[in-house]
Amino acid sequence: MRRISIFGATGSIGASTLDIVRARRSDFEIEVLSAGSNASLLARLALEFSPNQVVIAQEDQRDTLRRLLADTDIDVSAGRDALAAAASVPVDLVMSAVVGFAGLDISMSAAKHCAVLALANKESLVCAGQLLPRLCAAHGTKLLPVDSEHSAIFQCLSGEDKKTIERVIITASGGPFLNSSLEVMKNVSPIEAAKHPNWSMGQRISIDSATMFNKAMEVIEAKEMFNLNPDQIEVMVHPQSILHSLVGFTDGNLMAQLGPPNMKGPIGYALNWPDRQFVDQKRLGVGDLANLTFLHVDPIKFPALSLASKAMSLGGVAGAVFNAAKEQALDLFLAGDAGLLDMATFVDQALDQYQTSDWAKTLTIDNITLADGKTRDFVKSVALKDKD
Ligand code: NAD
Ligand code: MG
Repeated sequence: MRRISIFGATGSIGASTLDIVRARRSDFEIEVLSAGSNASLLARLALEFSPNQVVIAQEDQRDTLRRLLADTDIDVSAGRDALAAAASVPVDLVMSAVVGFAGLDISMSAAKHCAVLALANKESLVCAGQLLPRLCAAHGTKLLPVDSEHSAIFQCLSGEDKKTIERVIITASGGPFLNSSLEVMKNVSPIEAAKHPNWSMGQRISIDSATMFNKAMEVIEAKEMFNLNPDQIEVMVHPQSILHSLVGFTDGNLMAQLGPPNMKGPIGYALNWPDRQFVDQKRLGVGDLANLTFLHVDPIKFPALSLASKAMSLGGVAGAVFNAAKEQALDLFLAGDAGLLDMATFVDQALDQYQTSDWAKTLTIDNITLADGKTRDFVKSVALKDKD
């Protein structure tokens, strides 16, 4: 029996995690389920999975949630502090699957109190850099990747000496605009940008995949999770999303991990680690493997990757600046106040804005929070000026 907490239970990763739990109900006991604002879905999940507590981020949903769970003894709380407090309840595994910067507090709290931190929220590593792995190490917490590419790298490294890693190659589907012109990409709507060809994911990560900002985040995530130098990380476009990443070793051998484009594979791996258990998902056959293709990334169409390199070379809180500018630019795109291609311009300008500030060179949680707020304001003001 494994005691687990799932933060972001109402999202895409949350749903796949709960699917696996549903299929092996007696193997898991749930301590916490959390959501951002969807009280009715959270209540429905709570009635099905009987957690000890539920937490909703949006405080004005607390009463609705209490009413919906009035006939149960499930503890109900709301707000950011309640989320961080729930993440500090000791459990066997915390699934950190909130989307965006809001996931950072949860990951940092969980790192101090749980046995395994299963990290889907890549923003935690992009923003906190080495602070998160160091915190995990200091508390004896195992940090496990959930992102499919990082799960692939982790699986390829099983039993290997990390000192023998020469390089890692992260694959990218190329998203819905792999074969579209820049002219087309300039005018796409959020609905078109969120149509991922292979993966079914939340709206924000789907749109980030269309610009390859998701891949850029994953490069930084890989650097921090596996303590690599940026020049050891390569990205290859692989439109079928079957081969999730490769690791190259000093002897020239390459290891790869393959699986269907379904998050149940990496989530199941993390939930069951260090064992492997049956996971109900498609098995690959010749038809899936016969036509795997690989190509270079077009740096003109997808400048996000060179912006990730810029952020990594700046260091300090540049990861938090990168993430906040990208999140704010995405909000503007969703609101119809910016185009898809403006995201890269905003991120570039935000990185330039903060590279000269002394405080931004020191990586602390306070500076990360400061960088997040200041960057969002900066991007909003630039967008407003552009509109005038
Ligand atoms: P999603 O939008 O489907 O779900 C996000 C979850 O976070 C929901 O439960 C939502 O209610 C909650 N949430 C949103 N804002 C919140 C806030 N301010 N405070 C607390 N909770 C909040 O997102 P997703 O696709 O499941 O992605 C979750 C995380 O996993 C992201 O960091 C994403 O990059 C990462 N990830 C997702 C996938 C995927 O296939 N979906 C793959 C790899 C990594
Ligand atoms: Mg991924």
